[in-house]
Amino acid sequence: MIGGGAAGLSLAYRLVESGVATVTVVEAPDGPRRPAERTWCYWERGTGDFDEAVHASWPLLRVRAADGGDVTVDPAPLRYRMLRSTDFERLVHARVARSPGGRIVRATADTVRGTADGTEVRCRTPGGGTLTLHARYVFDSRPLRTLPPARTQLAQHFRGWFVRTEADRFDPRVADLMDFRVPQPRRGLAFGYVLPLAADRALVEYTEFSRSPLDTRQYDSALTSYTRDVLRLGAFTVESAEQGVIPMTDARFRRRLGPGHFRIGTAGGATRPATGYTFSAVQRQSRAIAAALRDGRAGRALVPPPHGIRARAMDAVLLRALDTGRLDGPDFFTRLFRRVPPERLLRFLDGDTSPWEEWGIGLRTPVRPMLKTAAELPFLPRRSHPFPRMGESKR
Ligand SMILES: Cc1cc2nc3c(=O)[nH]c(=O)nc-3n(C[C@H](O)[C@H](O)[C@H](O)COP(=O)(O)OP(=O)(O)OC[C@H]3O[C@@H](n4cnc5c(N)ncnc54)[C@H](O)[C@@H]3O)c2cc1C
Repeated sequence: MIGGGAAGLSLAYRLVESGVATVTVVEAPDGPRRPAERTWCYWERGTGDFDEAVHASWPLLRVRAADGGDVTVDPAPLRYRMLRSTDFERLVHARVARSPGGRIVRATADTVRGTADGTEVRCRTPGGGTLTLHARYVFDSRPLRTLPPARTQLAQHFRGWFVRTEADRFDPRVADLMDFRVPQPRRGLAFGYVLPLAADRALVEYTEFSRSPLDTRQYDSALTSYTRDVLRLGAFTVESAEQGVIPMTDARFRRRLGPGHFRIGTAGGATRPATGYTFSAVQRQSRAIAAALRDGRAGRALVPPPHGIRARAMDAVLLRALDTGRLDGPDFFTRLFRRVPPERLLRFLDGDTSPWEEWGIGLRTPVRPMLKTAAELPFLPRRSHPFPRMGESKR
C-alpha cells in the first residue's frame, strides 16, 4: 500500500481482517507530503468496524433553505458519523501491527515498476537511505499532481473552525449538512456546515462548490459573517481549524497503471463527483478488493470502479448544470431533502439505489435544465483544467 490515508488504511484494515494478504503500508514521514489532521464524515447503518474511533455521530440531519425554512430528517437506520484522521490511523496501525506479516513503514515512495514476479517500490527513508520493497500488488493512493481531462471540473473547497461558545448554542443531535443562508457565488453554490460536538462546541464550516478556492482571509471573512449574522453564536473562541480542496470532476481516472499497480482513493476516482464524499466509496471498494483477492481474481477485475456508470453519468449532468449556472444549487439540494425519503437519498448519494429509485429521484429535480444539460454533454470535449491547490492545511 503506498499512502496511509483514508484509502490506504481502509484497504490495509480490510485485508488484514479478512486474512487474504500480508500488508505493508508505506506512509510519508511528517513533512509536506503528509496531510494535517482532518475529519472524515460518512453514514453507516448499525455498528461499524471503526466505531471505537468515531468521534461524534448524529441521528438527525438538517438542510436550511436560503429563505430560512428548514428540513430536518431522520435517516434511520443510517447514522451520520465523524472520524478524526489521527484516531482512525491509531486504530488501523494497531490492527495492522497485530496481524502476522502486517507492517507500517515511514518512507517516501518514489518509483513503482513491474518485475518478473510482481511489483517493486523504491522509497526514501527519513534518514536519507533507500528502501526497496517487493509485492505482488501495489495499491497507490498518492495524490495526483494534475487531474485527468474533464468536461467539467469544480472544487469543493472549505474552511472550518472548531468553535467553543460561551453559551450553549448547538443541538448535539442535529448535523446541519447544508445551510444555504449565506451569500451565493455567481456560479456554483455556497453553504454553511455545522457539526455540533457538544451544546457549546462544534465544527462550523463555510463551503463552496465552484471553480477556484478562496484564500484563508476570504474563508475567515465568510466564517465571521456566518457565525455572527446567521448562526448568532455570540462570544466564542476558535480552538483549531480545518481547510481543504476536494476535486469535483467528471474526469475518467485510471485505476490500473501496470499489471500489479493500482490507484485507489481520490487518486483512483473514489471521490463522488457531485458531493465530494469519498470515505464510504473507499470502504465499499476496499471490501470488493479483499473479496476479489480471496476469490483469486486478477488484473482489471481486482479493483472495481469506485462509482457505477449511472452515478457518474448523473453527477456529470449535475456538475455541468451547476457550472453553467443553469441550476439553482441551493434550491436543487433543498428540494431533494424535502421530497426524497432520507434513507433513500443517502443511499442514492452513496450510489446504492436501483434504476427505478433513481428515476423517481430524477423526477423530483428541475427536469428541464437537467435534460438540456444531459443532451449537450456527449458533444463536449474533455479538457485539462488547472487545479489550483489540492490537499489541506491547518492554521
Ligand atoms: C480536510 C478534508 C476533509 C474531508 N472530509 C471528508 C468527509 O467528511 N467525508 C468524506 O467522505 N470525504 C472527505 N474528504 C475527502 C476525502 O475523503 C479525503 O481527501 C481522503 O483523505 C482521501 O483519501 P485518500 O486515501 O485518497 O488520500 P489521503 O487520505 O490524502 O491519503 C494519501 C496518503 O498518501 C501519503 N503520501 C503522499 N505521498 C506519498 C509518498 N510519496 N510516499 C508515501 N506516502 C505518500 C500521504 O501522507 C497521505 O497519508 C475530505 C478531504 C479533506 C481534504
